[in-house]
Formats: sequence, structure tokens, C-alpha cells
Amino acid sequence: MKPAPFSYFRVATLGETFDRLEEFGQDARILAGGQSLVPALAMRLSAPEALVDINPIGELRGISVTDRHIRIGALTRHAEVERSAEVARHLPLIAEAIKFVAHPAIRNRGTFGGSIALADPAAELPACACALGARFEIASRTGRRVVAADEFFHGMFETSIEDGDVLVAAEFPRANGNSRSAFAELARRHGDYAIVGLAAQASVERGALIDPQLVFFGIGDRPVAARTAAAGLNGGGVSDASIKAAQDALAADLDPPNDLVGSPEFKLHLARVLMGRVLRQLVADQ
Ligand SMILES: Cc1cc2nc3c(=O)[nH]c(=O)nc-3n(C[C@H](O)[C@H](O)[C@H](O)COP(=O)(O)OP(=O)(O)OC[C@H]3O[C@@H](n4cnc5c(N)ncnc54)[C@H](O)[C@@H]3O)c2cc1C
Repeated sequence: MKPAPFSYFRVATLGETFDRLEEFGQDARILAGGQSLVPALAMRLSAPEALVDINPIGELRGISVTDRHIRIGALTRHAEVERSAEVARHLPLIAEAIKFVAHPAIRNRGTFGGSIALADPAAELPACACALGARFEIASRTGRRVVAADEFFHGMFETSIEDGDVLVAAEFPRANGNSRSAFAELARRHGDYAIVGLAAQASVERGALIDPQLVFFGIGDRPVAARTAAAGLNGGGVSDASIKAAQDALAADLDPPNDLVGSPEFKLHLARVLMGRVLRQLVADQ
């Protein structure tokens, strides 16, 4: 199929972006890497009047590191994140997860901010952002605001981004020396969206997990933190018994939907499997 006709605007500044977004209101879409938006247009799942192509805006691109944060600009391509030595050193969870985002050709065009703004519940990066305590910077005509990742995702394809907003960057706190992360997902084929996945981060001190963050994806309408399981693990070590207790706690934390991918029981079973794998990974080098 071909997309419905639309106007195309290539903008050089955020100011121009706001002009176009205001002009077309709900009938405008921001175009970043186009890897999700263009297929949606081609299938006529979306038929906006105007595409606002933000690719020329330099301030939305790049990875920078300060004493306290790592900042990834919204327009930074997945491939650049994947190759970044700074990401590998400071955000190993992202470095690991990004290899599971689609395929190399899509990662060459798709952007970090596009994945966050799209908020597909089965996407890897939103869950990683929640596990790592990221914050998102959003710009609009009236100024800038910052939203914590765990408040940003409202539901399937629903976020704190409102009409007229542009996601500018994601900012991650720098981890301390005891910080460990682990990632696992189950998909039909490598590069497909996950059936179920788990992104985890914790401080590991003498074998004990401190403040573990265990965030599932593909199992709800947004990233889902396994808070009961995490509370039970906090301060203790990883053993067969603690893994079993964390797996059992998932019945309280997760409420998987019954859909074409599988039954709730099937997904809960996969989540238990991933919980075991990820907890062992977290303490693997202790
Ligand atoms: C075959 C295939 C497999 C894929 N598999 C996976 C996968 O396994 N995991 C995964 O996570 N993704 C997957 N994707 C999606 C891919 O990662 C996309 O790159 C990503 O979802 C969107 O990024 P984009 O830059 O292409 O955004 P676009 O397609 O340009 O935009 C997506 C949406 O976000 C909005 N948007 C984009 N940037 C901004 C911004 N800065 N501010 C405000 N709104 C913005 C757009 O208006 C649009 O609504 C797959 C895609 C394909 C085609």
C-alpha cells in the first residue's frame, strides 16, 4: 500500500518545529528515523496531514558524559548507541539491550528518542530506561520539562509527550562501582519484538543485591516494574531459594494480557524463566 498524501517539512531548529506542530496540531507527526512511522503510513494505520522531519536539528543528536550523567540525544541512531564506548562503559544495560532492537539496517536509521517516544510495550529501551532511573527532557514552545522514566509511559503508545512537544534527550545517572546490570528477552527470532523481556539493575555488595530494579517488557501495556519481587530480594543474596521466592512473587507483580502472542500462564512462565536467568547474571562475577 501507499501512504495517504501528506505535506513534508524539513525543519532546522526547534523553533521551526514548534511552528509546524502548532500549524497542524493533531494532524502533524514528528519524523525521526521513520522506522516505525513510515511503515504505519504505508499501511495507512496513520494518515497525518504533515510530517515534520527533525533530522537536521543538531542539538538533538549525540552522546555526552558529565560527572553525574550520561545524556543521549533523541536523534542519536541506535547504531551509534551500539558502537559508543561511553555507553558500553557507563550504561552496559543499554549496550546489551540495543543489540536486541530490530536488525542492523533498522538500527542504522532508527533513533533512541523514537523508541522512547513510540512507547511500544514490547520495546527494550523504555524498560531499560525505567530500570536505570532515566529522565527525559521534553521541549515545547513554552519551555522545557523533565519527566522521570517511570512516570513517562502511560500505556500502549501513550506517554507524557503532548501535542507540540519534542523529546530532546534521555539522561541517565552515572552508576557507582558496585552497580551491575543484566538483560534477557525471549523472542521468536533475534531482532523481533520480545514476547517477554527483563531489564535489571542493582548494586551488588558482597553478594547482596541492594535496591534491585527489575523491569519487564512485552507483558503489559508499558514497562512493568516487579516491585514485590524486588522488595523481597533487596539486601539479600541470590540463591536457589531467593530466586524461587522472586519467581513466585511475579504472580502479584505481573498481569499479562491474553493475546495472539500467548496466554497469561505462558507469559508468566517465561517471566519466571527470565527472572532466574537475570538474577544469576547480576551476581555472575561476584
Ligand atoms: C521490522 C522491524 C522490527 C523492529 N523491531 C524492534 C524491536 O525489536 N525493538 C524495538 O524497540 N523496536 C523495534 N523496531 C522499531 C525501531 O526500533 C524504531 O526505530 C523505533 O521504534 C522508532 O524510532 P524511529 O527513530 O524510527 O522513530 P519514527 O518512526 O520516526 O517515529 C516513531 C514515533 O515517535 C515519534 N517521535 C520520534 N522522535 C520523536 C521526538 N524526538 N519527539 C517526539 N516524538 C517523536 C514520531 O512522531 C512517531 O510517532 C522495529 C522496526 C521494524 C520496522
